Amino acid sequence: MANNLKASISTMTPTQPILPAEQIRAGDAPLMSLPVLRPPADLFARRADRLLRLADGHAMAGFLRLCAAICQQQQALHDASRLDPRAALEKLAEALTPQLPVPVQAALDLLLAQDAAALSRLAERLINGDYPADGPLFAALPLLGAALQAQATRSVRQRPLPEPQSQEPRCPCCGGLPLASLLLRGDSGHAQRYVVCSMCSHAWPVGRVRCLSCGNSRDLHYYSLAARDYLPPEPDHQRPHQARGAREVEACDQCHGALKQISLLLDADAEAGADDLASLALDLLAGEAGYARIGFNPLFLPGDPA
Ligand SMILES: [Zn+2]
Ligand SMILES: [Zn+2]
Repeated sequence: MANNLKASISTMTPTQPILPAEQIRAGDAPLMSLPVLRPPADLFARRADRLLRLADGHAMAGFLRLCAAICQQQQALHDASRLDPRAALEKLAEALTPQLPVPVQAALDLLLAQDAAALSRLAERLINGDYPADGPLFAALPLLGAALQAQATRSVRQRPLPEPQSQEPRCPCCGGLPLASLLLRGDSGHAQRYVVCSMCSHAWPVGRVRCLSCGNSRDLHYYSLAARDYLPPEPDHQRPHQARGAREVEACDQCHGALKQISLLLDADAEAGADDLASLALDLLAGEAGYARIGFNPLFLPGDPA
């Protein structure tokens, strides 16, 4: 996986904040009165479509297409009646078996052979981003993550939305970890930043330029992928978006955390879950530069470095 990622990329380039940081900090307070956003009812079907489009010509095309197939099944799970984790996992296994790589299938068979208590302990750990990062079950854990994500999205959708508090590091709906942050244009016409939950897929508002993990708003850097010979243009405050990537990481020099940021301002077709998976090379490079990912994407769980 890591070698494929490296072959697919070129370099990580620093990009400039869209607005001067002071201006953004001054705008923090009104952002916090924004509501939590519900995901669309066909979220997983849309994610699957986006993954298939992103797969064309991508160095990780096979992986992205497999993720698309998983998302299609997540949509079916989301639309069905509530299932326990094992029943949901069995449904995924039944639908996906012909497409799964042999090691994943072997791990999935072992996972399904766990008793109910062991499976729910694994599920509880996984929701908190904690999992056995090697061993015989590891390769199938993204499927457990996919089942939990579809179930959490369904169940939170049926509950009233909470009032978000200021700058919460965990989802105010379900306590889940971040998947990625999302920049979009709000009703006021201004760009707004949300964090998408890795489990229930709802999104809560956060400050534009502030580390979600430690609250730092000064020592932050933004990186996107670029060709090796790319020369970034001089910052131009008249055209502030020109030097930004639609997929970036926000890297914090205080806590060394890194959060993926997907911009709908720059790519209106982007979808947080899909665009995150298609830009894993950026996480790899950020990791090599000493930044640890804040939160996770259940469909891609990094293993222990060999
Ligand atoms: Zn959540
Ligand atoms: Zn930080």
